[in-house]
Amino acid sequence: LVRAVGVRKSFGHAEVLRGVDLSVDAGQVVCLLGPSGAGKSTFLRCVNHLETIDAGRIWVDGQPVGFTARGGRLHELREREVARQRRGIGMVFQRFNLFPHRTAVENVAEGPVHVLRTPRKAAVEQARALLDRVGLADKADAYPHQLSGGQQQRVAIARALAMRPKLMLFDEPTSALDPELVGEVLDVMADLARDGMTMIVVTHEIGFARQVADSVVFLVDGAVVETGPPGQVLDNPRQQRTQQFLAKVL
Ligand code: ATP
Ligand code: MG
Repeated sequence: LVRAVGVRKSFGHAEVLRGVDLSVDAGQVVCLLGPSGAGKSTFLRCVNHLETIDAGRIWVDGQPVGFTARGGRLHELREREVARQRRGIGMVFQRFNLFPHRTAVENVAEGPVHVLRTPRKAAVEQARALLDRVGLADKADAYPHQLSGGQQQRVAIARALAMRPKLMLFDEPTSALDPELVGEVLDVMADLARDGMTMIVVTHEIGFARQVADSVVFLVDGAVVETGPPGQVLDNPRQQRTQQFLAKVL
């Protein structure tokens, strides 16, 4: 469902991604690990075209990100078309940035109503169902400030799901949470994976990666150092760089 080939990205003179290859089959979960500054967030931002890549190509569901194929050639997408392409990709960040003056159910229904033109009543019904799915049926009418960080992050996941994405990107979704709230968010993500969602997850939660990931990609200085099933990369890393990193986070 996702194929990235030779992705390069620089900011000024700093080359942050130096030819990244990464593939995710439909229904699979890839965990992206690596030290701070490795380029993990930048890579996710390239996948949904929040950043434009300098070289290489990324395909999502057969579509080259940022381009459309017409008459056998690739044409750069206009802004509106980029927005449409991006709609198929849900993104959940470290910070949940919910609308503070809207209830949980309003936050979740917002996108479908305004972007997908779903009738409000249907969108609200769907939002309640999604909140139920993330274990928050009883918090549908609460405002963000009345929710814990873990609950807010689960609303953010429901909000992303409301757009019916074919791919979900997670950028350290639990690293801003108090430790006791991490598990409830990871549980929701594991459920999502079990239901067949295709996911790329940047995380330092090695336990989650071990249990849920189909493959783990270890990124250092903008390059993939090691990739493979979690049992291999996490438990029997071949590269010294991976071993050093795991020794620090475990
Ligand atoms: P962390 O684990 O700390 O989140 P990361 O692997 O997500 O790190 P990135 O955020 O992708 O790393 O950043 C990679 C490098 O690119 C860093 O050196 C960062 O300073 C730089 N960088 C990221 N975004 C920009 C930007 N918009 N302009 C300039 N430099 C940037
Ligand atoms: Mg990051």
